[in-house]
This record gives sequence, C-alpha cells and structure tokens, in this order.
Amino acid sequence: MSMPAASAAAIGSLCFPISRIRPSSFRPRMTAIRSGAGVDTINHVLTKLQKECATPLPVLRHVADSMANDMRAGLAVDGGSDLKMILSYVDALPTGNEKGLFYALDLGGTNFRVLRVQLGGMDQRVIATEAEQVSIPQELMSGTSEELFDFIASGLAKFAEKESGEFQLSQGRNRELGFTFSFPVKQTSIDSGILIKWTKGFAVSGTAGKDVVACLNEAMKRQGLAMQVSALVNDTVGTLAGAKYWDNDVMVAVILGTGTNACYVERTDAIPKSPGKKSQSGTTIINTEWGAFSTGLPLTEFDRGMDAESINPGEQIFEKTISGMYLGEIVRRVVLKMAEAESLFGNSIPEKLQTPFSLRTPHICAMQQDTSNDLDAVGSILFNEAGIESNVRARQIVLEVCDTIAKRGGRLAGAGIVGILQKMEHDMKGVIFGKRTVVAMDGGLYENYPQYRSYLQDAVTELLGPALSEKIVIEHSKDGSGIGAALLAAANSKYKHDF
Ligand code: ADP
Ligand code: MG
Repeated sequence: MSMPAASAAAIGSLCFPISRIRPSSFRPRMTAIRSGAGVDTINHVLTKLQKECATPLPVLRHVADSMANDMRAGLAVDGGSDLKMILSYVDALPTGNEKGLFYALDLGGTNFRVLRVQLGGMDQRVIATEAEQVSIPQELMSGTSEELFDFIASGLAKFAEKESGEFQLSQGRNRELGFTFSFPVKQTSIDSGILIKWTKGFAVSGTAGKDVVACLNEAMKRQGLAMQVSALVNDTVGTLAGAKYWDNDVMVAVILGTGTNACYVERTDAIPKSPGKKSQSGTTIINTEWGAFSTGLPLTEFDRGMDAESINPGEQIFEKTISGMYLGEIVRRVVLKMAEAESLFGNSIPEKLQTPFSLRTPHICAMQQDTSNDLDAVGSILFNEAGIESNVRARQIVLEVCDTIAKRGGRLAGAGIVGILQKMEHDMKGVIFGKRTVVAMDGGLYENYPQYRSYLQDAVTELLGPALSEKIVIEHSKDGSGIGAALLAAANSKYKHDF
C-alpha cells in the first residue's frame, strides 16, 4: 500500500529511517523517536503488554505443573477441575488390519470436512482417500440445531453421490461414518454422546443436552442418505488414532486450530472416577478438554475485555489465550487501545479497527512473514483489514504486538504439552521420558504459523532440557483426524469383521 501524502504528514513525527529489520527480533527503541507527545503512551501500552504477556521459565513451569495437577483432579472426580478429562470410549486403537470403505465427517470450527477412505488391511493400508471441505455460513453458527445438521447432512449426501472408482462398499452394508465432533461432549458410548456446550463461536440452539450422533443420524435420514454413525470421535482422539496407525510411539495428540484441545493414552486403572473401567489393552484415551484450563496464565486487560464480551465469559481461558480464533482479536484490541491513546494511525479511529474480529489470526501471521524494509505487506493488511493507514514506525509497533501475542500463545501451548507428558511420566515411569515419544499435532494455527510453532518448541525445550526434549517429537499429522475417525468407524463397525 502506498500512503496518502496527507496522512503521512500527519503522523510524520513517528517516521524514522530504519535499516533492514526482522520482525521477530526487532525491539523498539523508543528513545530513537523524535519528540511526539504521545510516544510515551504507546511505549507504555507496549511495554506493559510485553511485561504482562511474558512467559519466563518459572511461569512456564507453573503452567506445566498446574496442567498436570488439574489433569489428576479431573480424573479423580467429575467436576474436580477445569479439565473435564472425558473418557473417549476408544479403548482399541487401529491395528492396521482394517478393511473396507469408510466415511468420516469432521465438524470442528469454521469448516466441516468430509472424507472417504478405502482401507486395504496390513499390506495395502490406505488404498485411496478423497476429501472435501465446506465452510459453514455464519448464520448457521447461531441458528437452530436442525438447520445446522441438515446443512451438514446435505453436504455429506452430495459428497457420497460422487463415490466411484477405487471406492467399493462391501455387499449388503450401509455406509458407515466416523463423526469427528470437536466440542465438549459427554460421551456415553463409542457411538453416542451428549453435547455439554458449544464453544469456538458456535451458539446453536437446541443441541446442548442432546446426543449429537442422533442429531446427525436423523438429519441424514431427512436428507435420504443411507449412512450411519459408528464412532463419535473428538478431533484430538481422531488425530491420535490416525497418527498411531502409522507410528506406535504416538502417545499424545494436540489440536491448535480455531480452538485447541489435547488427548493422551491413559491407564484404565489410573482413572479414579471410573473405577470399573477395563479395556483389553489396559489403556484408554482421555480427552482433556484443556481449552478450559485457566491456572496461572499470564493475562492482560485485553484478554479480560475479549472474554467479557465473548459468548462464553469466564470459560475456555486457555483456548482464548493460545488458539487461532482469538490471537488476531487480542492484537486488534491492543492496536485499538494504541490508536485511542494517540494518533498512531492518524487522528480518527477507523471503524474497521473498532469492529471485533476484523483482524484475524491469519492476518497477524501474514504480517509477521513480512521481512521487507518498508513492511509493505503489513501496511496493506492493516489498511485492508482494519482500515488503518500506517507508516513504517506504526507497522513495526503492530508487529511487536503480533509477536508478543503469538509468543505467549506458542509458549503456553508448549508448557501445556509438557504438563501432559509430566503427568504421564509420573504415573507410568519410563513410558514417556528417555525414549522416543511422539506428540501428534494438527490444526491450521500450528500448520501455518511458523513463529508460533517455534515458540512452542522453544518452551518444550526450555522446560525439559536438551536431553529429554530431543526424544519428544512434535509431529505435524495433517488431517490425521479424518482418517483416524474413519479407522475408528472401521474398528467399531456395526457389521461383523475379522480385523
Ligand atoms: P478448525 O480448527 O476450524 O477445525 P483448522 O484446524 O483448519 O480448522 O484451523 C483453522 C484455524 O487455523 C483458523 O481459524 C485460524 O485461526 C488458523 N489459521 C488458518 N490459517 C492460518 C494462517 N495462515 N496463519 C495463522 N493461523 C491460521
Ligand atoms: Mg479441526
């Protein structure tokens, strides 16, 4: 974007020549700025933000320890902690012997994805897959349950119509579906579960308290689609199942996308709230619902403001601090405050900047990839998304804000992962540390935001030290949850099978 001359002059006092600056390593030196009555105010907002968002080792350690403690408390009794520690009913993970055609549906945020896979058993594994993605219209996210599920079922029906070629349903069977549903559900069996509440911006009426499998099965029937749900799977559980299909060292799965969550392999005899729980393997998968974690997090007035105005105030605090739905919005709030404090972006405050969620996480990520001298890409994003006309100085400050928020998010996510590993190691000595252990990771935030990813890895390395962290492999398992859900549908098929 090129700056109109008038506004460039208006904020000219904030301009100063810079040489090549790398956004993530740049530290503002406010003393270098000439006069400018309000510079102290911006300086103040930024330094206060950086101080409050700081995650030095003691903070990370406290978060990791608290995560481990809250996990234990949640396993002890229902409601024992912020972490629901939900039993997944997935006791048997895929073996590799699964065969046949299976579908998966993933409903977890801004999009839903449909997938079909032809499984060929141990020798052939995955013979073919096909997937499609459909975005969910905003109005359906706050409509009725029937409207939402009808929309999904009709998308699924259209996808199923296009089945051909390598995809072959065994004779005499209905199509079976693994339903990945990444919202808090009280699972009652492998193929039923009651929605506790919507999160991540969904406010659909009439689903909470109902069995979401029944909601989908009924909608498929209404759409004339002969398909049934065989496994209800949280996306983290699907990711874990999908990743473990290829690599047996996978013990934890984490999602960092619109929202966030984590699950892990737990011993059935280490779940006091479910004393009778048995499984052939002696283990089961626990869905932590760690988005609700809140102990010891470094929060700011911007987080509190966003939380207060959210549809679920006081809830999902970890999610609101580290996940993709919120990082951009936190940055917007900081920048708005800066714009209000002084005329960093001209004298009037653009309406777009005042609009919640106008700046999104992909935007702050894209800005952080701009390494040019005049930060042109930052300028255009600020102009297009927030209506801001900026000079280089203003762009640098915005980058500082983006970096602060991404850094806090990534490092806290890393601390959360270490918390889970610590809990597992404590209760299953030698199972995690000192041997190769894989954390399967999925989600658009982790996948697309390199700075966030490296901050996360930094925190894991700092907390565990070089020797232990070397054997903890954080592996991107792209769309593992789709195949994982289909594999779990296969493993829990309504039809007799020999795998
Ligand atoms: P969902 O979590 O909705 O199931 P994804 O795992 O694909 O879906 O994650 C999508 C989220 O990832 C978006 O809401 C956004 O917050 C984040 N995201 C997507 N693209 C980027 C990007 N380029 N940079 C940073 N974050 C991104
Ligand atoms: Mg997802």
